[in-house]
Amino acid sequence: MEERIELEAHAKINLALDVIGERPNGYHDVKMIMQSIKLCDRVTIERTEGDGVSLTGNLSWLPCGKGNLAYDAAVLFMERTGIRAGVSIYLEKHIPVAAGLAGGSTDAAAVLKGLNELFETGLSEEALCEMGLSLGADVPYCIMGGTALAEGIGEQLTKLPNAPVFHVVLIKPEASASTKEIYGRLVLDGKTDHPDVNGMIRAIEEGDYLGISSRLGNVLEPVTRELCPEIVKIEQAMKSFGAEGTLMSGSGPSVFGLFTDSARATAAFMHFRVAGYRQAFLTEFTE
Ligand code: ATP
Repeated sequence: MEERIELEAHAKINLALDVIGERPNGYHDVKMIMQSIKLCDRVTIERTEGDGVSLTGNLSWLPCGKGNLAYDAAVLFMERTGIRAGVSIYLEKHIPVAAGLAGGSTDAAAVLKGLNELFETGLSEEALCEMGLSLGADVPYCIMGGTALAEGIGEQLTKLPNAPVFHVVLIKPEASASTKEIYGRLVLDGKTDHPDVNGMIRAIEEGDYLGISSRLGNVLEPVTRELCPEIVKIEQAMKSFGAEGTLMSGSGPSVFGLFTDSARATAAFMHFRVAGYRQAFLTEFTE
């Protein structure tokens, strides 16, 4: 049995995000296209003497115990499998926090997958997804990764063919957006501009770059823009550098531009860095 395992926990962006309705318990029914990107956190898990889970990381202000999704995932895994052993986790965060990139969920997913390997428990992806769902609606998708349609509260997943690879320039403005607050402010009525999710699925299946970039849409974007008008400025700058399309990811406030041309993507990325954006990333789609 291995003693130590290192994993990449990839961030996701939404190529489309629609909200279909609200459930009495406050959860929303969504229809989203999820896409993994190369930007990732690094998760190292080690077996230790004794029992119990411990977590350290490079971000001192994140909780190190309960409330950190990576920690919660490990505790849940040990409880459900009944394994008695010590586990120490080191979390090297690179994904911006509270940004609409599923940072916490992807760490949790990596921990579940990592522990399944480390302890040779042989749980199926389905069993891990079922376990992950109690930690958060995006965790099952993060276990699956790649390109996927997510429905229900985000947990009903349909794997899609890998989307053709775009270069991605990703910007996290300094402002933060609370997922709860953004969903709370969303008003669904006749004026709501719903993205063409089915058209997006067809474009992905056909490997159609233009079809994808022209159908990017997020029903939450106008809501977050009200609180963070900088999103509009960032998108305009992306387009002036030749982005084929731009969109806010999740509940924001991260904004991305998709580029087919790597030189243009690099130029846009450099522009944002020079303009003082500390959380600017040049990345690309991954499986
Ligand atoms: P989503 O796209 O799923 O809504 P997000 O990308 O907007 O998620 P996260 O980065 O997951 O947001 O962070 C949301 C909150 O979760 C933060 O306020 C943070 O305190 C908490 N959190 C718990 N564990 C983690 C973790 N491992 N990494 C980042 N945030 C975490």
